[in-house]
Amino acid sequence: MALLVTIHDVTPALQPRVEKLWAMCARHGVVPGLLVIPDWHGVAPIEGDPAFLAWVRARAAEGAEIFLHGERHDEVGSPRGWRDAVRAFGRTNGEGEFLTLDYDAARARIDRGLARLRTAGLAPIGFVPPAWLARAATHEAVRRAGLAVSEDDGAVYVHARQRIIASPVLRWSARGAFRSWGSVTQARMRWRLQRAAPVMRIALHPGDLESAAVERSINDALAAWTRDRAPTRYADL
Ligand SMILES: [Zn+2]
Repeated sequence: MALLVTIHDVTPALQPRVEKLWAMCARHGVVPGLLVIPDWHGVAPIEGDPAFLAWVRARAAEGAEIFLHGERHDEVGSPRGWRDAVRAFGRTNGEGEFLTLDYDAARARIDRGLARLRTAGLAPIGFVPPAWLARAATHEAVRRAGLAVSEDDGAVYVHARQRIIASPVLRWSARGAFRSWGSVTQARMRWRLQRAAPVMRIALHPGDLESAAVERSINDALAAWTRDRAPTRYADL
């Protein structure tokens, strides 16, 4: 049984929280994948922060798999149709950067993002769209860009082996007390309901640390899920 743990929103803008999530994983023997945003909201270019980049490269040297996670992570310049608005409702605060993109637009952003990560000395193995929101064209663009994996909130696409692996993903929300409470409750339920899932994912976000209850829940979940599963790498799928 596989257990895939990732830290989303790896950007200089959120570095202290990213480092804290890394330390929480380390306490449970987990080396998480890192989802790197080349230029978060257009104000945090990774090239502009050599110390941050050195930190990410050092984690990669310790075994962390690197993923491209959007280009800016927001939706500037991407008009939303109503269908897209419905799909995104309640899931994201205008962070569905890839939700509306067709093949060419998605491919252009992926190619630009990959070039920046590679220039920065990183070797991304996959792509995860912000908030897991994207059309099929994005996954096709990932495949044709030569990356091994992409994912949405229901499955991991192993392009290297032409397989789609159903996989639930445990994630939290710290946006407001009600959502925090809901996500903590859900984390406990998932442990009971999805213990037998062959491939389980745990996704950590810097924003989760806004709530002490969510932070405790993450620690509990990492402890529970690593008790009878060894953390897995995407490369092993
Ligand atoms: Zn994200």
